[in-house]
Order: sequence, then structure tokens, then C-alpha cells
Amino acid sequence: MKGNFPIDKFGALQTPFYYYDTHILRQTLELIRQETSKMESVVVHYAIKANANPQILRTIREYGLGADCVSGGEIKAALQAGFSPDKIVFAGVGKADWEINLGLEHGIFCFNVESIPELEIINELAAAKGLVAQVELRVNPEVKAHTHANITTGLAENKFGIALSDVEHVITLAQQMEHVKFIGLHFHIGSQILDMGDFAALCNRVNELLVLLEQQLHIKIDNINVGGGLGVDYQHPNRQAIPDFHEYFKTINMLIRRRDGQVLHFEPGRSVVAQCGSLISKVLYVKQGANKQFAILDAGMTDLIRPALYQAYHKIENISSELPLETYDVVGPICESSDVFGKAVDLNKTNRGDYIAIRSAGAYGEIMASQYNCRALPKGYTTEDLL
Ligand SMILES: *Cc1c(COP(=O)(O)O)cnc(C)c1O
Repeated sequence: MKGNFPIDKFGALQTPFYYYDTHILRQTLELIRQETSKMESVVVHYAIKANANPQILRTIREYGLGADCVSGGEIKAALQAGFSPDKIVFAGVGKADWEINLGLEHGIFCFNVESIPELEIINELAAAKGLVAQVELRVNPEVKAHTHANITTGLAENKFGIALSDVEHVITLAQQMEHVKFIGLHFHIGSQILDMGDFAALCNRVNELLVLLEQQLHIKIDNINVGGGLGVDYQHPNRQAIPDFHEYFKTINMLIRRRDGQVLHFEPGRSVVAQCGSLISKVLYVKQGANKQFAILDAGMTDLIRPALYQAYHKIENISSELPLETYDVVGPICESSDVFGKAVDLNKTNRGDYIAIRSAGAYGEIMASQYNCRALPKGYTTEDLL
């Protein structure tokens, strides 16, 4: 079974480009809305870094989600798409002064602070404006997520967050500062996590920390932010187009022992947008090598870097051909040996000019594109654009 594509509309477009299936995106957002409306005091912030295409952002905002930003540019993109500042959170280990000032000027909900020097600068910059910045501390929970090493974030060896053993001290510091208000704790253990046990381990760590802080500091934590990280089924984008948000929200909401009035925040990125997007390209040449054949596409690692960067798997389909299957290495035109989308891929017999869809590319695809080899950036089109 292949995906559904309006190929008759593709002829007018320059390949390669991203195609976003609006129907799948909306179904995904509908499920998120349904599942979270069953729970009390829950806010979902979409992690903008997964995909900041303006159309996609506007659709996500329509469903009432907030925004999780990791740069000033993302804060601007969120504001432009109409996200309310009081639903914007701002994380990142290296926030520049102008980025902090931008957040302050717009009165974003909170800064997720990753170090003491950052906390001090936020306090200073807020003081200069006569403001009080709301801050959560991003805690490194030392929980191992069973995913690719390059996308784990919650281990002691990673650069992210404040060490567990320092949390109490940093909260005390924050409480002594006049221009920051400590409002909660933030966690994020990694990405493409499919084992609910990893999220359960995070919940246990959060529970332990809440008890400890209550005992030692006698404080109640108003906000718990568990970050993002839910994975998607890259093998079966057609069979499982919508991630299991039911299990995800249920597990975390059930396991975190929330105190009265505590608000639970989530920051899904990949799981919201991955399956709605495909990179569409055309076959330039079919080349016979010494012992294999290559399908050479007009899309390359500049358009979708995940396979080259993380050895990520994406399902590849020839959406123009129904001929018998043959085996190809599917590669791009970039002058790098790692410019390979898939090795020994079974495709319907492929000819020059066929359309190839690289699936599950809605997250960390278009947004990571580069202009290496002086290539143009790929454009993104939604189903609605092509009507
Ligand atoms: C990247 C990131 C997310 C989103 O992660 P996904 O795996 O795409 O869900 C959420 N929160 C923070 C702080 C992040 O850096």
C-alpha cells in the first residue's frame, strides 16, 4: 500500500518539494485535542523546531496548542503564526541576550533555564526592563531514552539541563532574585521514543524530585513540563499515520503524581508533523553500477538530512510506477558519499521522470534543509495549497 498523493497537481511544481497532507495533520491534532480534553490542567506546546512551515504552524495553532521555542527566530515564527505569548515557552542552552529580550518584550509564558549563568542574565535583562521573568528549571533527569545516541538529551553526559544534584541550590538562587519568578520544572529526555517505559522512568524521576523538593524546600511546584520525544512509525507511515497519543498522554498523566493545581505541560514535535509530510522528488537517472542499480533523484541530503546525519530510515515509494519491484540504492545528486536515502530499496521498476515520495519527512525535514552545493531550498506545499 502506498500513500495518497495528488500527482496530477505535481506537474506544475518544481521538484524537489515537501508535500504536507493536511488531512493527516488535522486528524493528528484532533486526536491530541480529544485525548488531552479528558485530562485536567494540561497544556500542549508544539515544538516548533520540528517544522516551522507557516501553514503548518497556523493549522497547529487553530487546534489550541501553545509553542515550544528554542531560539528567537522560533519565537518570531510562533508569534507570526498567531500563537499567544502566554502559551510560548523558550528552552535552549545558549540563549543570546537579544533572544531573551525578545521573550521579555512579548511576555512569553516562561524561560526554561538550563544553567546558573543564564538565570543571572535573565534576571539582569528583566531588571533593566522593570519586568519579572517566569522561569522553569530544565532538569537533566539522567534517564536513558532507548533511541539513537545523537537524539538522547537526558543523560549526565549531554549538555542539556541542570544536574539533578544542583536543582535545590538553583531554585534557592532563583527565589532570591527579584526579577525572576520560579514557576516549575522542565524535562526532555530525547526524541523518537517508542518505549513507554522510558516515559515511565522519567515520571518516576519527576515524582522523586517533587517529594525531595517538598521536604527540603517546602515548596509546591506549579508547573511540570515533561518535554516531547514521542516517536513515530517510520516503517509503516500508511498503516500507522497517527502516533499513539492515547497511550502516551494516558501513561504520563497516570504516572505523574500531581499535587492540587499543578499544571502538566507537554512538548511534542516529531509526533505532530512527521507523518503528514513527504519529500517529493523526480528520478533523474537510473544508473547501472558494477553490482547494483542506482535511482538518482533530484532531491539530496540538502533537502532531507536525517538519513545522512542519523542513519535514519525513511520509507521510499515510487508513486508513478506500478511495474514489478526491483532493487535500487536511492541516492541524491550531492557531492558526498553519505548522500544516500536508502540502500537496497525495493521500488516498482523505476524510470527517469518518475515521482519518488520519501515518507514520514514532515519533522526535521524542510526545516533542516541547507543550500550546500548552492542548491535552492525546497518549498513546502499543503493539500490545501494544491486545491
Ligand atoms: C526538540 C525538543 C522537543 C520536541 O521533541 P520531539 O522529539 O520532536 O517531540 C521538545 N522539547 C524540547 C525542549 C526540545 O528541545
